[in-house]
Amino acid sequence: MGNMTEKRRLELEKYFDPKGSFASLRMAQMKRAWKQSNRRELNWLENTYIPTLMEGLWLTSKHFFYNLTFHVFHLFGLYKEIPAAVTYQYPEKPRPLALRLRTRHRLTKREDGSVRCVACMMCETICPARCIEITAAEHPDPNIEKYPFEFNIDLGKCVYCGFCVEACPEDAIRMDTNKLDIAEYTRQNMIYNKKRLMEG
Ligand code: SF4
Ligand code: SF4
Repeated sequence: MGNMTEKRRLELEKYFDPKGSFASLRMAQMKRAWKQSNRRELNWLENTYIPTLMEGLWLTSKHFFYNLTFHVFHLFGLYKEIPAAVTYQYPEKPRPLALRLRTRHRLTKREDGSVRCVACMMCETICPARCIEITAAEHPDPNIEKYPFEFNIDLGKCVYCGFCVEACPEDAIRMDTNKLDIAEYTRQNMIYNKKRLMEG
């Protein structure tokens, strides 16, 4: 058994090569693989899967009867302060989202309906996913230096970090639309242009 273990260790060392740069990372990977490949054998009872099956049934039943009991109590106005689990019928009834959750972007507008963005490029510069593309143009109003002729965000690349919102000096970009269901059939459709972003 001792020889077998040593043999396995040498095999793993060869595979993960715990030397050179990233050695500590490789060592961690090796330890994980080591742990996984050294699981003990199941005994005959465990091999029948009955204990695991019973454990699963117990857990499911526990939640089922807990929720059923408290939903019945709630119907009679009792124990209202103790919550019971509910299933949201998504997409017909979406789950309420936390107020501070970062959701799909929008470009805010001035009172006259024009885009608030002044094409300062702060968001484009800070974006870690490099998914914002702005083309700046001269604004006809001499009080406003520039505006974004084009403003594209590739939501297929965005990591929803919110840095663009934090960096904006004009409060021109927000992530408060509460929209998260933005799946599309093509990558191209995941690129939101200025018009789509201004629609909110
Ligand atoms: S949320 Fe983050 S990744 Fe997405 S556009 Fe803004 S800065 Fe880029
Ligand atoms: S940081 Fe704000 S003002 Fe500057 S380009 Fe981005 S959205 Fe526009």
